[in-house]
Amino acid sequence: MESKWPEGARCLVNITVDFDGLSNETGKKLLPIGKYSHGRYSAKRGVPRFLEIFARHNVPVTFFVPGYDAECFPESVRSIAAAGHEIGAHGYLHEAFDLGDEEPFYLRKTHQILSDLLDTPPVGWRNPGGGKSDQTVRVLRELGYIYDSSEKAADWPYFQMVGGERLTDFVNLPDNTSSLDDAPFYRDSMTPPSEVLAQWKAEFDTAYAEGGYYDLIVHPRSGFGSGGPARAEALEDLIIYIKRFPGVLMQRQVDTARWCLKNPEDWPERTHPWSAQ
Ligand SMILES: [Zn+2]
Repeated sequence: MESKWPEGARCLVNITVDFDGLSNETGKKLLPIGKYSHGRYSAKRGVPRFLEIFARHNVPVTFFVPGYDAECFPESVRSIAAAGHEIGAHGYLHEAFDLGDEEPFYLRKTHQILSDLLDTPPVGWRNPGGGKSDQTVRVLRELGYIYDSSEKAADWPYFQMVGGERLTDFVNLPDNTSSLDDAPFYRDSMTPPSEVLAQWKAEFDTAYAEGGYYDLIVHPRSGFGSGGPARAEALEDLIIYIKRFPGVLMQRQVDTARWCLKNPEDWPERTHPWSAQ
């Protein structure tokens, strides 16, 4: 199969981690203790466990971090960056609602928090569930962002449309928050890790067969995340499985976005219809 991915790869894999710590409960006005303490698990156990897995298999990934979580756990976020992984923005209090006119304030606030904490400011953003508009993209571009990893409108990356215009400096790296996200399996259906792994492998097999793009979302939380031992092992088993296939490139989303922007004629988007929002 003719490759259109970086380094002649046949299939491009981006593993992404949504930190989703205390912000998740605090944003819902829940005290993040007692029965709502799942978010504390992210920094305490989930992130160190994930970092060990990624180091064991030499896989660079992207973590999306809410600003509030970075304020609560700066050392955890620094440890992620120190291991060579990318840090992207993921709301302030993981706002799963439309912020309206307050949205620019919170986008800038989280950007400032992460920029102050890290050597390099974030350039990637994942919507925590509150929607996205032309205003969102305008503010993100002003802040220097080059990609969004929230759209569900395609299988492969595509350029963002704003006001009927196709941007050339901002790319969408679509995610799949159903079959390639641990949260619905572990929160809604209480699926055993073995079956989640089987689902993720099936998605990979088909992405690989069509020379496609594979964007996995996991959370280092307990509760709806993969931070605990058995679920983390399913994630590690998936990485081991994927690495058996020749021609797979596993990289951070920022590297995918930069390559897409630099090589607009080379990537597979042109064989797919790109979405107008
Ligand atoms: Zn999230």
